[in-house]
Amino acid sequence: MTTANTTGTTMLADGVRAEAAIDLSALNGNLTALRERVQHADLMAVVKADGYGHGALPCALEALAAGVRWIGTATPEEALALRAAGIGPDRARILCWLWTPGGPFAAALRSQLDISVSGQWALDELLAAVRETGIPARVHLKADTGLGRNGAQPHDWPDLVDAALRAQAAGQLDVVGIWSHFAAADEPGHPSIQAQLDAFDTALAYAERAGVRPEVRHIANSPATLTLPHAHYDLVRTGLAMYGVSPIPELGAPADFGLRPVMSLSARLALVKQVPGGHGVSYGHRYHTPGETTLGLVPVGYADGIPRHGSSAGPVQIAGKWYTVAGRVAMDQFVVDLGGDTPGIGEEVLLFGNGERGEPTAEDWAMACGTIAYEIVTRIGARVPRRYHGASQG
Ligand SMILES: *Cc1c(COP(=O)(O)O)cnc(C)c1O
Repeated sequence: MTTANTTGTTMLADGVRAEAAIDLSALNGNLTALRERVQHADLMAVVKADGYGHGALPCALEALAAGVRWIGTATPEEALALRAAGIGPDRARILCWLWTPGGPFAAALRSQLDISVSGQWALDELLAAVRETGIPARVHLKADTGLGRNGAQPHDWPDLVDAALRAQAAGQLDVVGIWSHFAAADEPGHPSIQAQLDAFDTALAYAERAGVRPEVRHIANSPATLTLPHAHYDLVRTGLAMYGVSPIPELGAPADFGLRPVMSLSARLALVKQVPGGHGVSYGHRYHTPGETTLGLVPVGYADGIPRHGSSAGPVQIAGKWYTVAGRVAMDQFVVDLGGDTPGIGEEVLLFGNGERGEPTAEDWAMACGTIAYEIVTRIGARVPRRYHGASQG
């Protein structure tokens, strides 16, 4: 049985080792807040990497319930899975952007996906699939405006645009989008931000002069959506922010941006025992008890996505009190020094959540592990069951 307390967070269900509770009402609220913030632009819900660990399908469905009409994934396989699960072209445009040679271009056309093209090889493969299927493509041409990752460099841009327009004139495709991606939007004032916006405007101006009439121009990710209104153009692509995690923790906690964390990770205390002082704890004995104390065994480890970098650093809350991981995080479990406290075996251990019970957040774990909160939530492993609550419909 799942029990909900007054703040809407759920308690760990009976008999469960560990779980990630996913608050879909928070997801819906975040999307609503983000849409209000962008006003004149549309919003794309980015659900790549299994919805940053939250579950791509339930999060995409909740986004649709919140009125979102654009879904984004990295790989075509992720996009095709959403179509196969019933998110048809009548319900959402789905853009996927990480293509490799031999990728499923024909399947993408049959499923009416929006397809990103970053270079000539992709245009060639796409046009072969158009000839094979007889289905014209919906293309978003991607410019590398400075990230140095995917997208066409400025010196390759005119050729790519011209080749796409020739195919458009032949009825093989429509260039519906011109887009790019930021390198450092999470560092307000970083000089690359304005340089990328200038490069984007240059790429757009070329395309428009050449005859492209893009339905959507887009460059903003979560940090740009929150801090750079002039970068919103026609569409913003939000991932992390819709999951209620702050993409710029130095600038604000989720609540400062009107967001609520969606994922709460908890486990059930598997053992509490008394040990003498000087006792080594976990692999390599990187921790020794400073005196006689109590240890608690938490049955999640790096196979569940708890970073090994959280050894002797990650915070947890048990019965209202914070403790720190003692010694190494192992594959399946870690230990906390309870300092003589004796919480009950089976007590809920909160690793991170929305903070409303005073527990740590994903940002706290990121800080403890020297990484970003994106990685904390996204890497929660397949062995941890997700439990959904607060969905708008069924
Ligand atoms: C992941 C990704 C996003 C979303 O980024 P967030 O910072 O999580 O909002 C947007 N666009 C592209 C190309 C991405 O790869």
